[in-house]
Amino acid sequence: MTVPMRNGMLVILSAPSGTGKSTICRKLLARRAELRCSVSATTRRPRPGEREGKHYFFLDAAEFKRRIARGEFLEWALVHDHYYGTPRRFIESAVGGGADVLLAIDVQGAAAIRRKRGDSVLIFVVPPSLRTLRRRIAARRAPDDDVAKRLADSRQELEAAKSYDYLVVNDDLDRAVREIDCIITAERLRVERQRLEELIAV
Ligand code: 5GP
Repeated sequence: MTVPMRNGMLVILSAPSGTGKSTICRKLLARRAELRCSVSATTRRPRPGEREGKHYFFLDAAEFKRRIARGEFLEWALVHDHYYGTPRRFIESAVGGGADVLLAIDVQGAAAIRRKRGDSVLIFVVPPSLRTLRRRIAARRAPDDDVAKRLADSRQELEAAKSYDYLVVNDDLDRAVREIDCIITAERLRVERQRLEELIAV
């Protein structure tokens, strides 16, 4: 008996800058071959090692605004003084094709997607303490990053975590990844995400 195809779900991961979100995403994608990852567009400059189309689509502000006007983003936001946006077409075709999609986006983007797609799963990842966060942000020292600004923004982001579905503490990276993996598995198994009616009819 084949299980009927269902729509994919959106798994949104937000975390203050320096919480280890990109590493978590990489490890999750390695664990779950079927999980797709949304690549955002941004107007910030690439950090060393970041590649066009893999980490981000790097655009200038004029091109970003043209794409906003054309409705090419499912959501977009100004984060730490740069524009970031989720390309709509990729999400719609992946989810329509039954794939679950991971989005590493900020709290404004998460709220916008929740309004549009109420069944999205919102996971907030926090560092064990603000002191750890300060250390991690300072250690990154990327040329385009304003450490003080990122730290101040982080406090506001932590406040927004209250409206998320899950809170994961990243004090042990592997455990945090396992916990998020479990959340995805459980969310996939929710009755309303499965086509029970079609199963019964088979
Ligand atoms: P970073 O510059 O450190 O890569 O990202 C800065 C912040 O922007 C992070 O919180 C990241 O999750 C968020 N971000 C990345 N892509 C998007 C996006 O497409 N939309 C929104 N709203 N935020 C994003």
